[in-house]
Amino acid sequence: MSIEVRNLSKRFNGFQAVKDTNLKLESGSLTALLGPSGSGKSTLLRMIAGLEVPDTGAIHLTGREATHVSAKERNVGFVFQHYALFKHMTVFENIAFGLRVRKQKESEILERVYELLSLIQLTGYDKRFPAQLSGGQRQRVAVARALAPRPEVLLLDEPFGALDAKVREELREWILKLHEESHVTTLFVTHDQQEALEVASRILIMNHGAIEQDGTPIEIFDKPASHFIAQFVGETNYIDTEVSEKGLAVWGPFRFPVNPTLPLKQKIRIYFRPNDVYMTAQFETLQVRARIAKARFKGTIIEYKLDIGEDKHISAQIPKGVALASGFKDGQEVYAAITAFHVFPIES
Ligand code: ADP
Ligand code: MG
Repeated sequence: MSIEVRNLSKRFNGFQAVKDTNLKLESGSLTALLGPSGSGKSTLLRMIAGLEVPDTGAIHLTGREATHVSAKERNVGFVFQHYALFKHMTVFENIAFGLRVRKQKESEILERVYELLSLIQLTGYDKRFPAQLSGGQRQRVAVARALAPRPEVLLLDEPFGALDAKVREELREWILKLHEESHVTTLFVTHDQQEALEVASRILIMNHGAIEQDGTPIEIFDKPASHFIAQFVGETNYIDTEVSEKGLAVWGPFRFPVNPTLPLKQKIRIYFRPNDVYMTAQFETLQVRARIAKARFKGTIIEYKLDIGEDKHISAQIPKGVALASGFKDGQEVYAAITAFHVFPIES
């Protein structure tokens, strides 16, 4: 186990930023810590790095108790969104920085920096200054600088947060490749769910200072553990209704089988993704009648707002090719079924 955190808590002036948090990260893993702004991601990361002192709990790094070890001695590399490069130093000197602090031999520094330049695909950029690099290149140098002293753990706090969408996408590919080559245990903070789903083999979702779900991207996407996760990850419809008979809830013309242990009249919220709405022009089976209120072009998909009567609406997303072949148009009568959904009780 490379990182183990037990019962970690942190308050700021009475505000609980991190609550009794536990986590274990296998050596060599790449994990995303995903959550909305203010959920405590940075505070958790900063405690692991040794930049913030926890109120309670313990941190173990590669089997050693590190809770009270200084940041310098933790052998942790970190890159933050605003952890800028040293402007007056070349790329070479930026990457070499941590090695010079550790008083490594010049020949070793030279070898390590050139090895890292190749790893970050910036061979030949050693004499440039940060101002002569693009934003994406700068963040790659920041990662190389963090990796130079061979940390056991790499912590990345929204490293691509300030970059534009296209560059972020390229850097997702890059960080995956880098991880395959370096094998360093990596904890990657992001508030961008797409980034987490694409990059990590495991995702921890944080909300109000606690980890609310821990799973693979597919588990997080297909088996949300709570209301919060159902609405935070991916696009979703939700509707409020109640259990009308044992094992059944009804909403307009739709009937939902629900857990038979839910009591009668229990208020529930049902979540379902727009792409789990199956829509056809002709009735097939188990569908309800709907009317297309509005179509919205979204690139590879078309989203339809469906009017299902009694002032009830849902959205359906259909791959563009299928939608065009079906010739769906505004005002048209169609048939819809909900093929996957999640039910959570509403606490009164
Ligand atoms: P995230 O990284 O998920 O956006 P943070 O860990 O930065 O969240 O912050 C969690 C909460 O703790 C926020 O409400 C933030 O305002 C508060 N907080 C973080 N650091 C401090 C600090 N040094 N002093 C006071 N409050 C803080
Ligand atoms: Mg943060």
